[in-house]
Amino acid sequence: AEIREVEKSSLTVIGTGYLGAVHAACMAEIGHEVLGVDVDEAKIAALAEGRAPFFEPGFPEVLKRNLENGRLRFTTSLAEAAAFGDVHFVCVGTPQQPGSHAADLRYVDAVVDGLAPHLRPGALVVGKSTVPVGTASRLAERIDAELAWNPEFLREGFAVEDTLRPDRLVVGVTSPSAEQVLRDVYAPMLAAGTPWVSTDPATAELVKVAANSFLATKISFINAMAEICEATGADVTTLAAAIGYDVRIGDKFLRAGVGFGGGCLPKDIRAFRHRAAELGLEESVRFLHEVDAINLRRRDRAVSLARELVGGSFAGRSVAVLGATFKPDSDDIRDSPALAVANAIRAEGARVTVHDPQGIDNARAVHPDLDYSPGAQKACEGAHVVVHLTEWSEYRDLDPVKLAEVVHGRALVDARNALDLAAWRAAGWEVRALGRPRA
Ligand code: NAD
Repeated sequence: AEIREVEKSSLTVIGTGYLGAVHAACMAEIGHEVLGVDVDEAKIAALAEGRAPFFEPGFPEVLKRNLENGRLRFTTSLAEAAAFGDVHFVCVGTPQQPGSHAADLRYVDAVVDGLAPHLRPGALVVGKSTVPVGTASRLAERIDAELAWNPEFLREGFAVEDTLRPDRLVVGVTSPSAEQVLRDVYAPMLAAGTPWVSTDPATAELVKVAANSFLATKISFINAMAEICEATGADVTTLAAAIGYDVRIGDKFLRAGVGFGGGCLPKDIRAFRHRAAELGLEESVRFLHEVDAINLRRRDRAVSLARELVGGSFAGRSVAVLGATFKPDSDDIRDSPALAVANAIRAEGARVTVHDPQGIDNARAVHPDLDYSPGAQKACEGAHVVVHLTEWSEYRDLDPVKLAEVVHGRALVDARNALDLAAWRAAGWEVRALGRPRA
């Protein structure tokens, strides 16, 4: 069904990163008056001028449209936000604490403490950030307003679509009136038939963490099978297709490769383990330790396949790395397997040239020691081995015959199992892939 506009509410969205900026623009898109808030002045200035501070397909259009129609504005003032909003969505980061597996909740705490003294009577504060179970009830004691939790499931690369047409909406509330406020906010999604799960805040917090733990487990499961395939000459891509026909298993998120990364799955499973240990329940999620370990071993495996292809040592070798972001259709490089592999290879003495369609600026800012190239083919010039690490569609379109003319050695590691290996082999390339026979 079509998404139509609603009776408008005055909403604020606090924290305008990958999640919050899209949420703010999409809430305006469905008819609400929205004020986006961030402490990052440059980000707020960009958003207010209609410039997306990150790459997300479809986002610039929604941003511009709603700035122009006047429903969407931005500020750096939390006090202004408190005075404006009836509903406040908290979308700040909850990264992994340095030196620990715990989630860093200082930004969430700062927002709640900053809003508290300025809130309008009857205002509802709604957490969307991913947090350890128990966070909402802890925060509720610090604020004289109702607090709800409404976890977000959007995927980067599909963030606008996922926000406007979510699989489900989950709200953790402590009163029927809070649920009604959220039903009104999301009325167009409800009218379109989106499943609505209303529960307590602890369950809502856990739903998000459980969902990400399951997804991470599914990826590490197939990557564990890839390890077995590598030792036995079996092919994990065929194995995955074959088990995926069983609808109880399903074929989604079952692609063996260099594993998961990004600003969510790795830190979320670690924070979950940490929280479980605090609750004396370490054993309940001990398997997540294995999920993490399997995932990180795939990065080592990609490095060793490349090392083998250059004759056992990277010293003095040139390596082309295709991909910097943790997934295609995003510029997000947080905990990116591609950059972890690139850095590990560089640390062994290779000259590493990285290409990415959208992530180079972000990558360069964090990893200035790597070389960067504006074109995929250019990155491959003179390379002893090409390592494919992020499945951008443009890499599938690379012509192995043309590329063969510019490289130093025709050697390829497909660490995402996304390229047409037969075509590369036919063009004279020696090819290695994760979980697949050497052919
Ligand atoms: P992000 O780092 O892109 O954005 C966080 C923003 O919060 C930044 O712009 C930062 O400047 C701002 N901020 C920090 N402190 C602030 C303060 N006191 N007041 C106002 N703004 C402040 O992070 P993100 O990827 O958008 O993730 C945000 C949360 O959403 C995290 O908990 C994450 O786990 C969760 N989440 C993210 C996604 C995703 O795909 N990115 C999906 C679902 C859930």
